[in-house]
Amino acid sequence: MAHIITAACIGTKDRSCVDACPVDCIHPYPEGDGQAAYDQAEQLYIDPDTCIDCGACVPVCPVSAIYPDDDLPADMEQFREINAAYYRNR
Ligand code: SF4
Repeated sequence: MAHIITAACIGTKDRSCVDACPVDCIHPYPEGDGQAAYDQAEQLYIDPDTCIDCGACVPVCPVSAIYPDDDLPADMEQFREINAAYYRNR
């Protein structure tokens, strides 16, 4: 189980969630991954293998883009794979 970042993050890429995450599983961000990686990313992504499902990222997201796996809206289902794929390809 993990939390998943969805469409509202596209073009937003607010980094409040990065600061809130206790296990550093949200990427990319400039200080950790480089400015280029951040600029090129369409959105931010949660590593499903590292996320501990604490929920700390959810209330700090200004666009309500983050959902727990078991509460993912049906029309956002593709973001489960989009988040996971980012970490497979890193
Ligand atoms: Fe990080 Fe917790 Fe959000 Fe998972 S649920 S991405 S561990 S802040």
